[in-house]
Amino acid sequence: MNTTALDTILDKAWYQGSLTKEEITFLLSLQDGEDVTKLFRTARAIKERNFGNRVFLYGFVYFSTYCRNNCSFCFYRQSNKESFRYRKTKEDIIQLACALEDAGVHLIDLTMGEDPLFNDGARSEALLEIVQAVDDSVELPIMASPGVLREDRFASMHDAGTDWFACYQETHNRDLFTRLRPHQDYDLRYNQKVWAQRAGMLTEEGIMIGVGETIRDRAESIIMMGLQGVQQVRAMTFVPQTNTPMEKKRSPPFREELVTMAVMRLVHQNKLIPASLDIEGVKGLRPRLEAGANVITSIIPPQKGLAGVAQPELDIDTGERSPTNIEEMLEGLNVTIAPLSEYRGLINSWKRRLTVEVLA
Ligand code: SF4
Repeated sequence: MNTTALDTILDKAWYQGSLTKEEITFLLSLQDGEDVTKLFRTARAIKERNFGNRVFLYGFVYFSTYCRNNCSFCFYRQSNKESFRYRKTKEDIIQLACALEDAGVHLIDLTMGEDPLFNDGARSEALLEIVQAVDDSVELPIMASPGVLREDRFASMHDAGTDWFACYQETHNRDLFTRLRPHQDYDLRYNQKVWAQRAGMLTEEGIMIGVGETIRDRAESIIMMGLQGVQQVRAMTFVPQTNTPMEKKRSPPFREELVTMAVMRLVHQNKLIPASLDIEGVKGLRPRLEAGANVITSIIPPQKGLAGVAQPELDIDTGERSPTNIEEMLEGLNVTIAPLSEYRGLINSWKRRLTVEVLA
């Protein structure tokens, strides 16, 4: 296809036509600077048509870095004896959540590895207690990212105050999934989103860029995200971690994540798309917002002994990922922080629709 074909596809997306897998693959393959600039311009215009120049901020509380799994890409995999482990107390978690609320975030993201101490056997109530305690302490929506849960846990998670459930498949290619997440069940992970929606929660899906997937795999994932009915979609660049089976694999150029994000915006025009501070730190904010992102995630208060997921230390203790610093940065990007009422209105309308769809 030539530039004319690109213009035709971008026009189709702008007028809300549904893109085919071939068209999505074509867009994901763009390399040329001018073509990519056109793609980003359209993605940004679609974002602004739907959300204006406003962004939402997500505060991140990674409260346990213990995990029973051995994902090939992850620093916190169980067999990495050199990774930094901690488990925050309920009191610490509440304090962190309150500090983030005071700083003006729109949501508290409670994340953990699959830590048996929070979610197994006799301790199966511990995760619920954390969610409930945070819900009692802050007036903000809560996202839970606890890894895989049993189906019968979802109603309780919802009742404890979980508004969003995040669980990234990383890829929708089953063979690649098995290599990335050895001894984990593809369908069980996929169903986390199904069960969360049935229990009344909003859901997030995500893929990793540069883990051995093809461009068509990326296109397939973008289509699957639509079929899954999730409200938030993300793409994050693979970053090699020491002491993991993938430590010698190199990251792809960040441009590939940005192009994927922009194509997601063309296909999923009304969904939330995060720009994570966990990949390039704060310097990666501008290109991600310009590629169509409208949420800033992984905001972390400094000096609290917290880690990031993909980049355990990047920009954290320096305070660069703190809410105050992000706010100052946004002033220079012609982006404003949305009022909390706008975020609440958005997620409440989605929840009402979810209820109608589940009842139907
Ligand atoms: S990606 Fe999550 S589930 Fe996998 S090892 Fe890391 S913390 Fe555990």
